[in-house]
Amino acid sequence: MTARRPNILLILTDDHAAHAIGAYGSIVNETPHIDAIAAAGRRVDHCYCTNSLCAPSRASILTGTHSHVNGVTTLETPIDASQTTFVSLLKEQGYRTGIVGKWHMGEGEGHDPQNFDYWAVLRDQGEYFDPQILTENGVHIQPGYATDVITDLALDWVDSLDGDEPWCLLVHHKAPHRSWEPDDAHAGMYTEPIPVPDTFDDDYAGRSSAAKHATMRIADYLTLADLKVEPPEGLTPDALALWKYQRYMEDYLRCVASVDDNVGRVTEWLTERGDADDTLLMYTSDQGFFLGDHGWFDKRFMYEESIRMPLLLSWPAGIEPGEPLQQMVTNVDFAQTILDAAGVQAAERMQGVSFLPQLTHSPDAPTREAVYYRYYENDDQHHHALAHYGIRTERFKLIYFYNDGMGLPGTSGLSYPAEWELYDMEVDPDELHNVYHAPEYEDMREELKVQLWRLQAELGDAPHPGQPVPALLARSEQAELTH
Ligand code: CA
Repeated sequence: MTARRPNILLILTDDHAAHAIGAYGSIVNETPHIDAIAAAGRRVDHCYCTNSLCAPSRASILTGTHSHVNGVTTLETPIDASQTTFVSLLKEQGYRTGIVGKWHMGEGEGHDPQNFDYWAVLRDQGEYFDPQILTENGVHIQPGYATDVITDLALDWVDSLDGDEPWCLLVHHKAPHRSWEPDDAHAGMYTEPIPVPDTFDDDYAGRSSAAKHATMRIADYLTLADLKVEPPEGLTPDALALWKYQRYMEDYLRCVASVDDNVGRVTEWLTERGDADDTLLMYTSDQGFFLGDHGWFDKRFMYEESIRMPLLLSWPAGIEPGEPLQQMVTNVDFAQTILDAAGVQAAERMQGVSFLPQLTHSPDAPTREAVYYRYYENDDQHHHALAHYGIRTERFKLIYFYNDGMGLPGTSGLSYPAEWELYDMEVDPDELHNVYHAPEYEDMREELKVQLWRLQAELGDAPHPGQPVPALLARSEQAELTH
């Protein structure tokens, strides 16, 4: 292990699903430069976000806490940027700190980035072309394509630094977020038919009402602004759905291709500077994304394609290249892992666990038994995904949709009875068969409810008021009382 404190370089994209990365076995595209990070270091196969939405995931990454602690539960809840973050702790210890790109956790006093020596961020979702850039000096338009512009500004900042103290740089791309606008350099790619996921025609049989209620189906809910051209006339409904899928994926993957090129620029630049060995380089995305899986675009749901984050990292001086890490980690763990690499003490309020030991000297050490997930937005007017929480263990996933009808403004106002889902991912990795009501899973179901209840309490969150106390928990608690 090196004595020198590593630079930290976190490249965070927006909505880039792991299954659109070559290193994760993508069958729809190639990403040689992103893959090269894992080849020089490690790929993490089971990295999950704890609330599959842009702003909440960013807040969890920075603060090392769950949404109910950092306060960024939805897109409408701006961050209190004075909170302790891994960046503020690095800065206290002499790191030079910078962020360029998408911030998306509010704007104005109290919400703009804090504890960064340099910040240049997009406003809200930002623009793909000639983006507005907000700095401490105000707003200006930076000509060019956002993915290139963000990379340029980020590298320029590091190049402007004098002295030997390490730096921490966050490169937060807008791409490949909706509305998927590629630049001319990549506009001709992916015109051959793109493979369609096996679950594209999912009819959600046996699942909760939420799956049918959501307005995320490619066939029905992509807009003309998303598609950019009018569909051909005279197609059958099935053919039209496939046409829309192709159109969606072409632009999505073209945006990813530009990201990959820019990742190549960053790694080449690191090598040229002589910094590659002493830099912890991480590539990740704020959540996953449905790429036609279950017929959907977007994220939000606790299903695998949505909550799974890509995470590839390298640090030649500190991490030996090796097999992919299989233990479960979350975005809440990033802060403590980065601080661990820098040799900086984490804050007490942080709720993650460093997985640096698993990347270095203890490859087989367990990480966590379960991941706690909670999605707070309820029936938003664009996607109509319903709020839910749940637990994911290595094998099972238990989800509770409380369906209380307390939707956000502009929603349908529909409500359903509360519903549970349970998936056995060993036999059903695509999560097509909800076995919550299957008698052979009854014991497991009740045990998982207790595990969820306890984990939620341990993390300082509370169940929805309508959720009954799990029967097993009530019995064991009763037993304790009578002893
Ligand atoms: Ca996102």
